[in-house]
Formats: sequence, C-alpha cells, structure tokens
Amino acid sequence: MILYKSIRFKITILYMAILAVTLTSFSAILYHNVSRGLYNNMDTLLKSRAGGISRAIDTYWEASRLESPDVAISPDALRKRRNVNFANIAQRWVREESKDPALVDIIVQVFDTDGAIISASKNTQDLAEISRKNFISVLQGRSRFDTVSSRSSSGKMTLRIFTTPVFENDKVAYIVQVASPLTSIYIALNNLKVALFILFPITVLATGLMGAFLAKATLRPVDHMIRTIHQITAENMKLKVPVPGTKDEIQKLAETFNTMLERLDRAFTSQRQLFEDLSHELKTPLTILKGEFEVILKKIRSQQEYEVILKSSLEEVNRIIKLAENILLLARLDSKEVSPQKAPLDLTALIRNAANNMKGLSELKEIAVSFNSSSEIMMDGDEAQLKAAFLNMLDNAIKYTQPKGRIEINVGKGGPFAQIKIEDTGIGMPEEELAHIFDRFYRVDKSRNSTGFGLGLSITKSIIEAHNGTIAVQSKPSHGTIFTISLPISVY
Ligand code: ADP
Repeated sequence: MILYKSIRFKITILYMAILAVTLTSFSAILYHNVSRGLYNNMDTLLKSRAGGISRAIDTYWEASRLESPDVAISPDALRKRRNVNFANIAQRWVREESKDPALVDIIVQVFDTDGAIISASKNTQDLAEISRKNFISVLQGRSRFDTVSSRSSSGKMTLRIFTTPVFENDKVAYIVQVASPLTSIYIALNNLKVALFILFPITVLATGLMGAFLAKATLRPVDHMIRTIHQITAENMKLKVPVPGTKDEIQKLAETFNTMLERLDRAFTSQRQLFEDLSHELKTPLTILKGEFEVILKKIRSQQEYEVILKSSLEEVNRIIKLAENILLLARLDSKEVSPQKAPLDLTALIRNAANNMKGLSELKEIAVSFNSSSEIMMDGDEAQLKAAFLNMLDNAIKYTQPKGRIEINVGKGGPFAQIKIEDTGIGMPEEELAHIFDRFYRVDKSRNSTGFGLGLSITKSIIEAHNGTIAVQSKPSHGTIFTISLPISVY
C-alpha cells in the first residue's frame, strides 16, 4: 500500500497538524500575555517607585522645615529658600536611597518646574533629556510613560520612563522621573521565545510518533484481517478473520465479516450440493435412456418392441424436463428474480380447484378426499405459484397414502391469516426426518418413491415464504402426516 494513502499516515499527519495549530495559538497567546504582564509589572513598579520617592522627599522636607521654623517669611521668599533647601534634601535623599538594592536598576531624576534638574541618581547618563513637549504635558498635571532607546557607553539600551508631577497646594511643585531598562523583560521574553521554538518541533514530532504508534496499534487487527482475507477463496470459506476483543468498530467489522463469510460459505456449499444432486438426478434417467437406446440398437426389433422402448424413453425424457423445470423454478424463487405476480384471489376456491385437479389420482387409489371450508378467503397472491404449491402437497398426500386411505383438507381463518391443514392417513415420516424434508433433493427413503426428485416441498416452502406465509409439518410413521400452512389474507 502506498504509505501516504494509508490511514496510519493520514492520522499521524492530522495529529501533527492539529497539534501544530493548537500549539501556535497557545504559544502566541502565552507570549502575548506574559509580555503584557511583564510590561504592566514594570509600569506598576515605576509608578510605585515614583510615588515612594515623592513621599520620601516630602517627608524629608517637612522634617527639615520643622528644624528651621521660618514660617513668617513671605511665600515668594519661602519658595526661594525652599528651592535651595529643597534641592539639598532631594539630592540627599537620592544619594542615600539610590543605594537601596530595590532601586539599583532604577534611574531617578527630580526636576523643578522650569525643567532644571534638582537631583539625579548616579546612573542618569543613560537617560535621555526630557523633551520640551513632554515636559509641558507633565507641568499641566499629567503623568506619562515613554519608551525610549538611548545609545550610551554601555551600548544601546531601551528604557521605560515614567514622568509624574508632584503637587503642593494644587500646584506642581516638582517633577519626578523614574526609568528602568527593559533589558530584563527582553531577556525573559527571549528565553520564553527560545523555549517555545525548541518545544514546538519536539512536541509536534513526539505527538507524530505517538500518533503513528497508536494508529499502528489500533489498525493492527485490520492488517491481520487483510492478510486473512487475501487467503480466502471459494474453497476455504471456513477461514475466519481474527476478531480482536477490543469491543470497538474493528471488532464489529471482523464479526460482521465473519458472519458474511458464513453466509457465503452456506450459499457456496448449497450451490455445490445442488450441482452434485442435480448431476446425480440427471444421471439416473440418462443412464436408463442410454440403456434403452443400446438395447434397441442391438438388433432389428418388432414394431411393438420399438413402441414399448420409445414410450419408456419418453417417460425418462419427461422426467428430465420436469427436473429442469423444477430447478429453474427454484432458482428463480431463490434469486427473487421473479417476485410473485400478486393479485386478489379466493384462496378457498384455489385449494378446492387443486383438490379437484387431483381427483383422478385419488380416485385411482380409492382415497377419500374431504374438503372443509367456511367461506371464501381473499388474499393477494400469485395464483399459478400458490396452486403449484398446493398441488405439490396434495400430490404428496396421495403418493404417500396407501389405497383406501383418507385425506382431509381444512381451510379456515385465524385473525389476519388463512390456516390450511392437509391431513393424510399415509405412511408418515420419522420425527428425525421432518427437519430435512424441505431441503432440496431430500427424500425420506428413496426406496419408497422412485418418481419424485425431492424438490416438491422445497419449491412449496419457497412459494409460501414468498407470500409471507409459513409451513409446518407433523407426522407419525404409519399414522399419517399433517401439513399446516399459514398465509396472510387481505380481508378479515
Ligand atoms: P418428492 O418429490 O420426493 O415427493 P418432496 O420434496 O415433495 O419430494 O418431499 C420430500 C420427502 O418428504 C418425500 O420424499 C417423502 O418421503 C416425504 N413426504 C412428503 N410429503 C409426505 C407425506 N404427505 N407423507 C409422507 N411422507 C411425505
């Protein structure tokens, strides 16, 4: 089998494709969420640092103001003084606090309202100048975040900058700017990217391998089945495909296939049996014919002798014709090629008619035939076929009943069915034979009747079943036989 057309290959590729799509979406969402989380964290950190710084500076300032209480000084003077003092305080704070390990990576700048730097941490060389435009918006009271790339001695660096105004009496007193390099975020995201890129092919490949293995394990019974099926021919239909105990569709497939094999085997066997029986049945009349022709050809015979032999030959020829007709009828009934030509008919009249047709035969043997029926029974059926079936049974009843015997025919209704009973006081049949009498070419005891082929009852049964009816038999040797036929009727 071409590999890429195998179910195994298709399942594996499908597994891998589904996983690749899922992993890609999952990775994209994961990467996006982690990156957003890291940036948000950074912004929150910068915000809280800026808040902490302004609070710390204000606390220092309040403390130093209490030490030198120059409260009486005018607001302007106070502002000037404050500027000088304030710068000192801010510088002191930044100097001391920038040693804090939590602030090691954070760059701090404090500006006055003119944009001049009051104080800055040591590492501000990386920080870009605050742009004029940005500065104005901060002076107007709006905090802002910027991401800025700067080129410094330590190389190219991207910084996240938070600039926020600090108010005093509803006026902007000074501006705090904190910044942090984004390097750690870039490294974390890069690590995540690398991990995802490495994991992606490994996972997809591993799943592909697992998928291929699973598909192989699942389809192994199918492989076995294919191998067995290859060995099956008309001659060894007894072979069975192995049934896996998996209780799944494959087990069902194997069981169904085996049931089909059994049916086919039965059909083939019965076909073979039919051929054997047929040739056997043909052989007898043909051998008789051959013998008769050989005898006739041995010498010149008298007119009378020719007549006798030709008459006997004609009988054999008729037998062969009858056999051929019966076989043909059976074959047609079996193949359902000719479905019954159904039309409304009176079953009572049909059976009475058949009994009348057999009158000559029964009278010859002085057999009393009684016919009992209540009324007409209407049904849809094939008149010719049904008549042939009843003629067959009546013929049997006469054939297998000794002279001066009795035959009773009862036709009645039982619900939606017509019940027909054909009872004779004939030779009967042993119990163990009853199961076979409807088989083709089956004769109970070949010695008791040389005229029949053993096809009559199988034809009868096929006809009754084609009319959705049933046929049953009861019999006792030396006592007689009862055939019970049930046929669905149209009016009841
Ligand atoms: P056949 O042409 O030999 O009569 P059938 O198929 O009609 O073939 O019958 C099969 C066998 O059943 C017969 O050979 C016969 O032995 C037995 N049989 C059928 N009907 C009766 C009956 N009414 N009484 C006794 N035996 C019967």
